[in-house]
Amino acid sequence: MVINFGAGPAKLPKEVFVEVQQELLNYANTGLSIMEISHRAKDYITLHDATMQSVRDILNLPDNYKVILLQGGATGQFAGVPLNLIGRTGTADYIVTGGWSSKAAKEAAKYGKVNLVLPKVSKHTTIPDQSTWNLDPNASYVYYCDNETADGVEFPFIPETNGVPLVVDMSSNIFSRTFDITKFGIVYAGAQKNFGPAGITLVIVREDLMNHALPITPAILNYKDNFAADSEYNTPPTFIIYVVGKVLNWIKKSGGIKAMADNSQKKSQLVYDRIDNSGGFYSCPIEKPYRSRMNVVFRIGGGDEALEAEFLKGAQELKMTQLKGHRSVGGIRASLYNAVTLDDTETLVKHMDAFLAKHKQ
Ligand SMILES: *Cc1c(COP(=O)(O)O)cnc(C)c1O
Repeated sequence: MVINFGAGPAKLPKEVFVEVQQELLNYANTGLSIMEISHRAKDYITLHDATMQSVRDILNLPDNYKVILLQGGATGQFAGVPLNLIGRTGTADYIVTGGWSSKAAKEAAKYGKVNLVLPKVSKHTTIPDQSTWNLDPNASYVYYCDNETADGVEFPFIPETNGVPLVVDMSSNIFSRTFDITKFGIVYAGAQKNFGPAGITLVIVREDLMNHALPITPAILNYKDNFAADSEYNTPPTFIIYVVGKVLNWIKKSGGIKAMADNSQKKSQLVYDRIDNSGGFYSCPIEKPYRSRMNVVFRIGGGDEALEAEFLKGAQELKMTQLKGHRSVGGIRASLYNAVTLDDTETLVKHMDAFLAKHKQ
C-alpha cells in the first residue's frame, strides 16, 4: 500500500473512500448519486446541515461564531478577509511568517493599507518574539497563518492583539489541536490539507464582524450574504461537502481533536528526533519551538540535492510518495496530517535510519 505524505491535496482516511465508493451510485436509497442531487433537495440539505453541525461540535463553537462554507480556496480568503473586514479602519496588520501569509498580505494591499508587523526576511525559520512586533492599535484586524505549510513554521501560541480582532489561516493545521475560539475574529481553512478534498473553504466568523464589508465585495465572498443563505448563496460543491462531512465523522469517531493532537505530537516528534540525532546528516532549519507538527521540513547532507534525490527515490521504492519539499524551500517535506498514521510515520523513520546508516562515513 502506498503511503501518502503529500502536503495537499493530502491523504484522507481510507474508510471515507470506501464509504464514498459504496454510496456513489445510490445515495441514501434515492437511486441517485449524491453528485446529481439538487442542492435544494432535502437529502442534500440534511447532509449539508449535518456537516456544518459537525464543525460546531468538533470545535465546540459558541453561538456567536458562525460557520460558512465558501469556494475559491484559502486563496479566495486572502481577498475575502480584507474585503469583509479592512473597511473597519482601512488598515490591517499582517504577521508574515512564511509564503502563505506573505501572499495574503500582498492580496490585502489591493483593498487597504497593510502594515507588516515583522521585518522582511528571505527565509522563514522562526517567529520573532512578540515584544518586538510592530502592531498598529488602529488596525481593522491582525492577520497570521497558524501553520506555514511550505516553510514548516507553526505558531506555538496565539498572538496577543489587545482587543484588535484576530484573523487566522488554519488551512494546514485545523482539527489537529484544540484552540480557544474566543481569541479569534475569523478562522478559516481550505479543506484539502486536513479535512477533505480540494474545493471548499471553512470560514468561522464572529457574528459582530459581519457588517464591515467594502461595497465592492463580490457576493460570493461576502460573509453576511453567505451566512444568511446557509452557505447556499449559489450552488455549493455538494460532493466535496459530502466527503468533508464523512471526514469530520471520522475525526469524531477517532477520538476528536484531542486524539488528533496527541497523534500529531507523537508523529512529528518521531521524525524530529531522527533529524536531531543524526549528527547533522539530517537538518531542520526551523528553530525548535516553531517547528510544525504537520509539515516536517528537512535537508540531507546540508542541502545535497543528489542525496535528497536518492532519498526520495528510495522512499518511492518503499511506496512512500509526495515527500519532495516545496519548490520555494527545497529538500524534503513530510506532511503528517490527521489521516497519516503512526505506522506510516514509523515506516518513514525506518527509511531515514537505513539511509543514514548507508551514507554515514
Ligand atoms: C494550501 C494553503 C493555502 C492555499 O490554498 P488554496 O486552496 O490552494 O487556495 C493557503 N494557506 C495555507 C496555510 C495553505 O496551506
